[in-house]
Amino acid sequence: MHEKSVAALAAGLASGEFSSVELTRHYLDRIERFDGDLNAFITVTAEQALDQAAVADRDRADGKAGPLTGIPIAHKDILCTEGVRTSCGSRMLDNFVSPFDAAVVARLREAGAVSLGKTNMDEFAMGSSNETSYYGLVRNPWDHSRVPGGSSGGSAAAVAARLAPAATGTDTGGSIRQPAALAGITGIKPTYGRVSRYGMIAFASSLDQAGVLAQSAEDAALLLAAMSGFDERDSTSVDRAVPDYAGGLAEDQREKLRGLRFGLPKEFLDDGLEPGVRVALEEAIKVYESLGVEIVPVTLPNLPLSVPTYYVVAPAECSSNLSRYDGVRFGYRCEDPSDLEDLYKRSRSEGFGDEVKRRIMTGTYVLSAGYYDAYYLKAQKVRQLISADFKNAFSEVDMIIGPTTPGPAFEIGAKTDDPITMYLNDIYTIGANLAGLPAMSVPAGFVDGLPAGIQLVGNYFDEQRLLGVAHGYQQVTHWHTQAPAAYGSE
Ligand code: GLN
Repeated sequence: MHEKSVAALAAGLASGEFSSVELTRHYLDRIERFDGDLNAFITVTAEQALDQAAVADRDRADGKAGPLTGIPIAHKDILCTEGVRTSCGSRMLDNFVSPFDAAVVARLREAGAVSLGKTNMDEFAMGSSNETSYYGLVRNPWDHSRVPGGSSGGSAAAVAARLAPAATGTDTGGSIRQPAALAGITGIKPTYGRVSRYGMIAFASSLDQAGVLAQSAEDAALLLAAMSGFDERDSTSVDRAVPDYAGGLAEDQREKLRGLRFGLPKEFLDDGLEPGVRVALEEAIKVYESLGVEIVPVTLPNLPLSVPTYYVVAPAECSSNLSRYDGVRFGYRCEDPSDLEDLYKRSRSEGFGDEVKRRIMTGTYVLSAGYYDAYYLKAQKVRQLISADFKNAFSEVDMIIGPTTPGPAFEIGAKTDDPITMYLNDIYTIGANLAGLPAMSVPAGFVDGLPAGIQLVGNYFDEQRLLGVAHGYQQVTHWHTQAPAAYGSE
């Protein structure tokens, strides 16, 4: 069953080929069998999942089933789940059981999806390799000596190894697209404001956005439709109707692709792009050309500044957001504090890991009175320039195409001692976050047996077209159907 897409599983449930309880049990068995090696899950909620599945089966029998009724999924452990530990990959929240569901979790639940559990992630979503989690690193199902990408590395590994048909993720600088690329699956980060951030633990609030990791664009469309929409509890949520994303894919995409113009930014083809990924991109471009797409060279002149800009803005916001973890209200508290200052200091020093501390220190520094203008204000200005670059490009083209990451999955430990090299992994993904644009990563081939992804960036709220463009490619290629040998069909 696990080789099936969400769409195929939904058909199987609808025809009575299997029940949601059977399906859920199948995935729980797979998690039990394979997750010891991968470490994709922090918490598995087996009992709750089977209860939810039984409810889904009853709803179906009562004629109340939608496309996601009874489909098992997994949630990144950054999303609050009522009654279930929500750790955000940190010792700080190891003991935190959320009293409420995040909007994303509640909406998917209302759509009938069954939650298998919470997936591993870089601590507070800071990382590109899933090596900063308090719960240990996650292994890439394609090669256990390599990282799955991050920060949604657990979700990516779970979907790639077919331990869950699809999963939620969050993307502040690439954390859905980068792990999707390294794990050979499809990921979408919607427009900033499309999906409510209510109950999603904040890292950098002006950049954070939830999305989906799945096998295909079609599956991503099904989940995204259920997750999206206005929520008055998130002041940056946009009140705009949610299209029937999956329904829209039923129309002939080849017809819709013909005559589209894709911009290929020359800044995406820099020296950092490894040859294997470049070849995958070139091949994907040929596929699009054969479908009638015109490829137009464009330029995003300020894009090379996106990494330094992001690494000022994101730490600044994180230093403010993470000030709430003070050892008093919730989360980790040190033993026997001698006074209030000792309580703050030790709770935070013991509760946070190195990368989180590095970001808090950088963020506090760039926001401090003496350096605010030189760093934070400057970064905000460059952020506007980067957004303007995209706006200019979209006045000429319908979509932007490029690589998702410079290279395929790297070896565990290869970049942990050098934060700058680690940060450079996000060079192609961060621009879309700084500008708030929707973007996807789609599997597009292999480099020495490791998956490579291409990235598609759309204009604001153009998720429907973005999904269509990805789906059109997936209708004529087979990369997205490949699973790592050890986890494929049996
Ligand atoms: N890798 C980037 C970082 O470390 C992006 C993380 C994310 O998107 N959550 O901040």
